[in-house]
Amino acid sequence: MTKTAPSPSGWIHRLDQRLINQIAAGEVIVRPASAVKELIENSLDAGATRIEIAVEEDARSFSIADDGSGMSAADARLSIERYATSKIRELDDLANLNTRGFRGEALAAISAVSRFELQTRRAEDAVGAQLRCEGGTGARLTQSGLPAGTTIRVRDLFFNTPARLKFMRSAVAEWGHILKEFLRQALTRPDVGFSIKWRGRPYLNLPSGQTLRERLAAILPSEAGGDLLDVDHTLHDARAWGCVSSPKTTRRDRRHQYFFVNGRPIVSRPLTFALQEAYKGLIMTQQFPLAALFLELPNGEVDVNVHPAKEEIRFRNEALAAGSVHRAALEALRKAELVPKLSLPATPGTKFAQQPIASVTSAHGDSIRPPGFFASPTRPTDQAIRVNPIAPSSDQTKVTAEEIPLSPSALRLSPYTDDSAVEEATLIGRIRASGEEPLALAQIARTYILAEVPRLGMLLVDQHAAHEKILYLQYQRDRRKGAIQDLLVPYTYEASPAERPALEALAPLLAEEGFATEHFGGGTFVVQSVPVLFEKTDVSGLLRDLLDEIGQGNVKRELDRLRHKIGAMAACRAAIKAGDPLTQPQMQALLDQVLETSEALRCPHGRPTLLLLTKEQLDRQFGRI
Ligand code: ADP
Ligand code: MG
Repeated sequence: MTKTAPSPSGWIHRLDQRLINQIAAGEVIVRPASAVKELIENSLDAGATRIEIAVEEDARSFSIADDGSGMSAADARLSIERYATSKIRELDDLANLNTRGFRGEALAAISAVSRFELQTRRAEDAVGAQLRCEGGTGARLTQSGLPAGTTIRVRDLFFNTPARLKFMRSAVAEWGHILKEFLRQALTRPDVGFSIKWRGRPYLNLPSGQTLRERLAAILPSEAGGDLLDVDHTLHDARAWGCVSSPKTTRRDRRHQYFFVNGRPIVSRPLTFALQEAYKGLIMTQQFPLAALFLELPNGEVDVNVHPAKEEIRFRNEALAAGSVHRAALEALRKAELVPKLSLPATPGTKFAQQPIASVTSAHGDSIRPPGFFASPTRPTDQAIRVNPIAPSSDQTKVTAEEIPLSPSALRLSPYTDDSAVEEATLIGRIRASGEEPLALAQIARTYILAEVPRLGMLLVDQHAAHEKILYLQYQRDRRKGAIQDLLVPYTYEASPAERPALEALAPLLAEEGFATEHFGGGTFVVQSVPVLFEKTDVSGLLRDLLDEIGQGNVKRELDRLRHKIGAMAACRAAIKAGDPLTQPQMQALLDQVLETSEALRCPHGRPTLLLLTKEQLDRQFGRI
């Protein structure tokens, strides 16, 4: 219609239903992945036990087949009408919803912007119904012999909405979105079988009847699948359960974090922050745990009807939702002794219950919880460490869960508020006060140094973590003194086109840190000198890690963090590794250096560098006292 001057009447007119549907489709179906999401949800609502998806070449055509309830011919006809649903009848039903869908919009929207075909048969019907339409018009219903269940084929999505088509990314990018949606949905129902094909080839097949862990193991990067902690915690009316990764397995983005509320995949900043908060002090900044967390709340606590694709929801009590996720993750980390919690094997006849043994954590200023070793007996501590070499069998090992008093402020408070520096200093103080020289005795599993402070007890040092921290501290000192070594053979680093801008921006900072880097044009960068300490370090590996780290970030804004990072990464690369054999003098030197300053008791990757087991604790273990 062309624009003309307003006329007194007939200027306003009703849009035809087809155009209404196309416009409305824009809200629900923003990209192929949103259509796939809606279709999967419909199959789940129909009670499917198997859902098979195939995505074609251009990622704008796809099919989904389920073995769910199917529809009668009359229902099939209605299903593509806007606001036609079998899931709610009145507003009150929204409060007790147990289906994913309820708006009756998805099939109308999808069929309005594609070439659409629906085949369906209920188990009780002799023949099935087939319905076809293009751009929402010319719907034709025919009878057809079909398996029970429903198959929907969508071709050429957005073929009649050029504006939307223009916003499509490449087929591969859209496929990526589809896959992500598929994975989120597959996690909601490990009991349902899901498979997906891409360009004619099977891509992923998730059998039915899996547990959440099994499904996660199939979906997450392989190293994470084996490093998951179970989470299950109820806070008032809110239960948060699922799995989170241990702090050892983290990622540089949140790609592998999945949140669900009442079974629905959602995106929620408060929940994301709550999870991150639980790992505070255990992982480096800009690292993110992997997680699949299911929050169950009474229906009245959430409003799912705030987003057309139902991705965002509103919590009546956001603090409760976030608090329960925080608590749940934290509790799982504590149980896994990651926020150290002690338990030694209970010896019959002794009163041993939950004696903090000792522990100290590693590095970089993030506060890890204090060891609790020196906590007075009247002060409850949850800071014990379970010493595995001593209590290897889990049935002997009791982990005591504490009940934490709950108050709204407790929900917001970071649990890591104790002054750990004081207690760590006390550890050093205690060793010094014994008046004895700690003596390195042996290397255990080529990973730990066993040492003795005769009257006090025994020490275990993690050789890598300890050395790493020592190098890091040395580096911080030398940096100021500018102890720099020219390299005999300069390192050449070939930056990829994507890395080049970041490396150019990083070069001045690297130079300041002692890594004099010159740009030789193109993608070639040459490192001429390095801080003395890192003479033998793999510089290109360090650069690669740093570039990864910066990503799209702004070097200037992240200066401080990067400076710390360079030190930490270089130290990590230069340090003795677990598995390196050490001589007694080497062990002794390392031990002496760790004990030189309380700073070395905390290291750059959130791991303890030192454990102390006192004679008193040994006596207790052996029933002497
Ligand atoms: P909603 O899911 O919000 O009800 P939809 O447009 O997605 O709206 O679907 C409309 C109706 O079509 C549903 O209420 C359901 O009765 C029926 N339907 C859709 N997909 C399926 C399916 N895969 N199996 C059985 N019934 C389906
Ligand atoms: Mg639906």
